[in-house]
Order: sequence, then C-alpha cells, then structure tokens
Amino acid sequence: VRVAASHAPTTLRRPPQMAPRRAPLSVAASAFAPPRLGVSKNLALSSRRAPSVASGQLRRSQRTPMIHATVHRRGSHIIVCAAMADVQDAMDVREMLKMDVKKDKGLVVGQLDNGFRYVVLPNKLPPTRFEAHLEVHVGSVDEGVDEQGIAHLVEHVTFLGSKKRENLLGSGARANAYTDFHHTVFHVHAPVTNNMSGGKMLPQVLEALEDIAFRPEFQLNRIEKERKAVLAEAQMMNTIEYRVDCQLLQYLHEENNLGCRFPIGKTDQVKTWPAPALRKFWEKWYYPANVTLYVVGDLDRSVDDVKALIEKTFGKLKPGRISADDIKRLQSLDPREYGPAPAAVPALGAGAASAQSSPSDAAASSVSGQAAALHDLLIKTRHSVRPPVDHKFGYGPLAPGEKPAEVKLFRHPLLHHYMLSIFCKLPIKPMTTMDHLRQSFMMRTLLSVFRFRLHGRYMSGEPQFITVDLDISDSGREGCAVSTLTITAEPRDWAAATTVGVQEIRRLQRHGLTAGEFERYREAILRDSSQLAEQANKIPSFDTLNFVMESLACGHTVMGHRDAHEAMMQVAATITLDEMNSLVRSMLTF
Ligand SMILES: [Zn+2]
Repeated sequence: VRVAASHAPTTLRRPPQMAPRRAPLSVAASAFAPPRLGVSKNLALSSRRAPSVASGQLRRSQRTPMIHATVHRRGSHIIVCAAMADVQDAMDVREMLKMDVKKDKGLVVGQLDNGFRYVVLPNKLPPTRFEAHLEVHVGSVDEGVDEQGIAHLVEHVTFLGSKKRENLLGSGARANAYTDFHHTVFHVHAPVTNNMSGGKMLPQVLEALEDIAFRPEFQLNRIEKERKAVLAEAQMMNTIEYRVDCQLLQYLHEENNLGCRFPIGKTDQVKTWPAPALRKFWEKWYYPANVTLYVVGDLDRSVDDVKALIEKTFGKLKPGRISADDIKRLQSLDPREYGPAPAAVPALGAGAASAQSSPSDAAASSVSGQAAALHDLLIKTRHSVRPPVDHKFGYGPLAPGEKPAEVKLFRHPLLHHYMLSIFCKLPIKPMTTMDHLRQSFMMRTLLSVFRFRLHGRYMSGEPQFITVDLDISDSGREGCAVSTLTITAEPRDWAAATTVGVQEIRRLQRHGLTAGEFERYREAILRDSSQLAEQANKIPSFDTLNFVMESLACGHTVMGHRDAHEAMMQVAATITLDEMNSLVRSMLTF
C-alpha cells in the first residue's frame, strides 16, 4: 500500500511494498525455508551503561552451583547456556535485565533549534556512495475526509516540481519518493562526487532535499501533470493482490483511519483539489519539527562536518507556527484528531493563563517572558505518537459476555488460492532494555520452533497446504504489533490446510516446546546473531537506513550488531523452559 512517485526519470519505480505477513498468496518457499533468523527487526536495541554481567562472567558460585553454565564450542561460535540461578546470581540477573541495551556507537541523532531532526550513520557499503532520505511525518492517516490521496499528490508535486532535484540528473544520483500511511519520504542515493562536475555531492543532495520539502512552487501545469500521474498510478495499482491487501487492512484496522485512508486515496477527490488546497496541506505538515533527515553511507567527511552542513542547509528554516485558524480548531477538537501540536494545545491555554495571572516583579521581564512563552507555544511540534490512531488491542480468553471476533470473508474470481489470516493486534513494546531483548528472544524462539515443526512434519509427505506461517512483528507504519497466523492452500484443500495450521498452533499452545527444541533453537538464534555480528560491515546503506528509520518509528533503540550479539548471549542464558512455555501459552491464546 506504499505508493511511489512515478515520473522520476532517474529511477525505476519501486513496487508497492507490502508487509510480508500480509502479502497475499505469496506462495510456497518462505514457509519451508529455514527461518531467516538474522533479519529480525526486533533486534534494534541499545544502552549507555555497559551491562555488568558479560556473558564470559557467567559462573558457578563458590558456594553452591548457582548458575549452571555450559559452554559449547561449535565452529567459531561459542554458545553459553545457563540453566539454574541461585539467589545472589538471580539478583545479578534482575539487575542486568533492567539495564538499557547499548546504542549503536556510530549513530548520531540530533536536532536543530527549529526542531528539524537528523540521523547520521557512517556505513562502508557500497563504497564512496551514500543515502540521504528526508522523512516528513505526514501520511495518508493524517488526511481529512475530503483529503483522501492529497499527501501522495503533494509528494508528487513537491518532488517533481523541484529544479534542484532536476539538477541531480546526470550526477550519478538516483532520487525518488513515496507516501505511506505514516510518512512521506524523499530519498536520494548518490556517489560522494558528482559524475559530471566532479563537485561534492552531499551539499548538493541536501540542498535538493531542502528545496523539495520546503520551497515548492505548486505550479498549475505541474499539478495537472502529477494529478494525471497519480490517477494512472491508482489504476495500475488496482491489482487483485492490492485489493486483497486493502481488505486485510480494512478488517485489521476497522476501528481507525488505517482501515480507510489508503495512501493512493480516492480518485474522484484527486481530480478536484485546486492548487491552494495542496499548498494548505503542505503548510500544515511540512515544517522543520515534523521532518527527520537520515544520512547513511560512506561519507567523504567527518560526522561533525556532516552535522555542520545539515545546520547550514536546514538551520535557516523558520520553525512551523500554529496559525490563528489552527488555534480555533485546536480548541474545539479532540487533540488526537489534529496533528501538529497535541502537547501544545493544553500548554497553550495553561501557559497563556498563567502568564496573565502570575504577578511579576519587573514588568519588562514579564512582558518579554510572556512573549517568549507564547512564542514557544505557537511553534508546532510533531505528534508524540505516530501514526496518530487508536487501536483496539487484545488477546487471551474472551471476557464474560464478550463476543468472539467476527470472521470476514472476501471472494473474487481472480483469486486462485485459499488464504486464511488470523490477526491479533498488540501494542509495540519499545525495545530499550535487556529485559525487552529477552522477551524478543523468546518470541523468536517460538516462531522458529513453529516454522521448523511444520517444515519437519509435513514436507516429507505431500502437504495439503502451500504455506502455514506464524509471524509476530512490529509495524511502524501501523503503530502496533501484529501477530498473524496465515494459511494458504489450493481451494480444494482449504479444510485440511486449516486443520493443520490450527492443530499445530494448539499443540504448541497446550504442550509447549520440548527441552530439546528449546535448546536447539536458542542455539540457532545465537548462531545467527553471531553471523550477523561478523557481517556487521557488509550491510548496504539503503537497508541500514530503512532499518534505523523503522526502529526509531517503533521506539526501539538501534544497536550495533556486535553489541546486539553480546546482549543476546547474556539474555539467552537467563531464559528457562518454563518461562518460555508460559510465554508460548499466552501468545498463542488467540
Ligand atoms: Zn506516486
């Protein structure tokens, strides 16, 4: 349901991206391939204090064997497993779990005085190239009833209307843009040196991004051109896969805007907005505090120099202001319905009132104090929670009198397979502490065991299903975590396939993991994170950047791969089979 700008001549359009868990009918392979343990989004973690219990320090107590640690050497990987802990060590463990995970040392996060945020991360691959992505925190969920699709159209007009973007042509840079539920992103992939002029690319790219986001012209011919482009895009996107995806999102998010504000919007509305409507939407949402810039790559200068360049390029922008109209609306609306300043709304009233009623010693300072206070309050800040929607969460047994979830059915002659999806929405748990890391480790163990069981039990025969997959993942675009059981099959096998999926989930829920499975997959996950740590410098900047963007959207701490592996070893050593199985019981209740 991502929509990409179509007329960027320098690049191919990226296909609409769908979360794998809801990629409809994405048949075979994935369910039977070994789980890709290495790519867990949930491993974005960190901390400033170094955990005191390093894995090497797991030890037998002097008095009684408190932590029973076994060290296996397998190839180059050392795996530590601990089974029991005594009182003293249990306290050490509790202290360790409270600690923050270590933040990636290379990651620099900063903010300019006007509220503009930036993230800089040196990354060696590909060499002499970098990524610069400008994320505006506005997407289709922020659209009003009569604005459906306007975020996407504004993206097109700002991006393609920019002269400085055009000047990137021939430089060796590729630029494009996309709009999603929760954000609009303008992205440039560039060499450090301009292919034609030999000049430095980073200043040129940042200026182009500044021009795109903050100096749009909204020329009428450009608007009409992009209106047509967007309408053509809507027609092209309207495949059966897209429609299935929309159905799933509609059901999953029927209680909020995610279920009805798809980025592509409504074509009858796209046809109508005049230029001032586009400009109004842009003015409302494109202001420095609502933007984050990411620069990731093999940079030709120090991080301090990059920061100085960001300050020079974006520091002169004026902070966004709340207009008189906005203030009237803010006072009459539920803050959640209005974007820019949920925090500033009560603050505005309270601040103004206290400024008026507080007696002051010096009239002059009071006046300047009031001015300063009002000045601060009128500056727009971004939503503290994005996307700004309310979710109906829940899993576990039904409360007395509660009705079970409704079964929704979607049929279409173009659908050749049967697919069953069972969803459960949960709040995202920001991954910031060792304890959170431990929880995610247990989740991954659960997913691995489920996938391997299906693989092992059915693949030798002729399974009556195409895929049976369990997924639990955080979604920055939806602002929630979703656990999903997806079953696909040939239509004639629908009943048998459903039975397999449901039986396997129930079996796992009732009887849990065996001790052997627990140990095997715990080791597999550690082996995997060890491999990832070894490949830490071999991940392309584009993937690294998207990982960082998604992690920050979910509130996770971004961890370096080596630190992540070390932390995983520590937490893995503290998990018991009983704890693991109690998590399995609760997670699979749905
Ligand atoms: Zn587009």
